[in-house]
Amino acid sequence: MNNHFHIAIDGPVAAGKGTISRIIAERLNFLYIDTGAMYRVAVLLAMKNDVQFDDENALVALLEKSEIKMNNPVGLERDGRLTTVIANNKDVSWKIRTEEVGRGASIVSQITAVRTILVKKQQAITQFQDVVMEGRDITYKVLPNANLKIYLTGKDFIRANRRHLQLQNRGIDVSFNQVYSDLVLRDKMDIERTNDPLKIVDDAWVIDTSDLSIEQVVNLIVFKVNIMQETLLEN
Ligand code: C5P
Repeated sequence: MNNHFHIAIDGPVAAGKGTISRIIAERLNFLYIDTGAMYRVAVLLAMKNDVQFDDENALVALLEKSEIKMNNPVGLERDGRLTTVIANNKDVSWKIRTEEVGRGASIVSQITAVRTILVKKQQAITQFQDVVMEGRDITYKVLPNANLKIYLTGKDFIRANRRHLQLQNRGIDVSFNQVYSDLVLRDKMDIERTNDPLKIVDDAWVIDTSDLSIEQVVNLIVFKVNIMQETLLEN
């Protein structure tokens, strides 16, 4: 483990990982890294270059020559996004947020070679800074030595409702039933895939967000991190 404080968060679709991680990062002055955004960028690159989502060689070639950067939004970037995502010098923060790209991400993320490249990029980012990183395999694959490991979850219906509201607020017209069935299918693909599936590790703190507000979850986590940091300083 290096000297930086790492918070690893895993969990299913729309459990609140992004929103909660973003606020925690702001409160603690950490960098927020949304690893799902990287899988989404892979899809965007594939779409732009007419590459099929299951074409392993072409995807790997595209990703190897691509640069993906993330930063906490500053200035004009503070337009509601949780993170700024720059792919090959282009701001793709909003382009990657469609349901189509999300569905594609669930497909490209099944490919081991794609995961290997992206996990390396994710680990490289964490080397020199305090981070809160969220995804599906962070607690055991990307940051197995994280100081704090969290599994955020929530009831399917409630998560689908949240995602539906989010999309409506962005002016995206999609039915609740569509959002609900997409969510259930994407979770199933993440849990059942053979390579680095979504799972709860033994040392994870499991938080069910169904009946908690964002503020309550954030407070719980920040409180715990503050105590852990004080203990680290004392030792
Ligand atoms: O979190 P988000 O919905 O943006 O992630 C998009 C997709 O990327 C997920 O459904 C999942 O299949 C994949 N993913 C992954 N491993 C991660 C993060 C995301 O497989 N660490």
